[in-house]
Formats: sequence, structure tokens, C-alpha cells
Amino acid sequence: MTKFEDVVSRVKDVAENVGKKTGELVELGKMKVKIADLRREIAGAHEGLGRLIYDSRKSGESIDDMVDACIEHIDALNAEIEDLEERIMDSKNLVRCDGCGAFNEHTATFCNQCGAKL
Ligand SMILES: [Zn+2]
Repeated sequence: MTKFEDVVSRVKDVAENVGKKTGELVELGKMKVKIADLRREIAGAHEGLGRLIYDSRKSGESIDDMVDACIEHIDALNAEIEDLEERIMDSKNLVRCDGCGAFNEHTATFCNQCGAKL
């Protein structure tokens, strides 16, 4: 296995493990922890992506497929975060501001962050 493949397979392993655990999550706190974990995984995937590109430039090896695979995994992790945030909002009866993305009480008329009308 080349080190490029190694990076991609590690990113895949992480994505699969994260996927398995999601179905078991019921509590709000756990969802928040999960989101923090996912954000860390995304940061790690970005780092791996940077390493792929750096190594590729040095070696001249083509890595388009691996870069695509990394990007797909990052997108999947981001989609999972959005899904969890939606579930948290639902359970807390919050609404998201269209302007800045901040969470607000569903009874609020204006955003508590940017002041936009909700
Ligand atoms: Zn706002």
C-alpha cells in the first residue's frame, strides 16, 4: 500500500466507524459530542488531503482519484453534522437564522446574533 492509499483508507475507516455509531445516538449531549468528534475528523481529513497534495507534488504521482475520495468523505462527514444539528434543533424547538446560521428560540422574532428577522 502506498502512503497515499494509506491516508485514504484511514479516512474511510473513520467515516465508517462514525456512521455505525450514529444510529445509537439518542441524547442531546451525545449528539453534541458526536458533532465535536466529526469536526475533529474533518480537520484530520483536511490535513490528510494536504499531505496527499504535498506528497504528490514532490513525487509527481497523480492522486486525483484519492483527492476525490477524500473530498467525498469530508462531504459525508459534513452532511452528518448537518443532520445532527437538525435533530438537535428539532428536539430543542429551535430555529436557525437564514442570515447567519445561529440557533434561536422558536418564539424569537429577531436573531440573537445578527438581528435579522426570523
Ligand atoms: Zn442571524
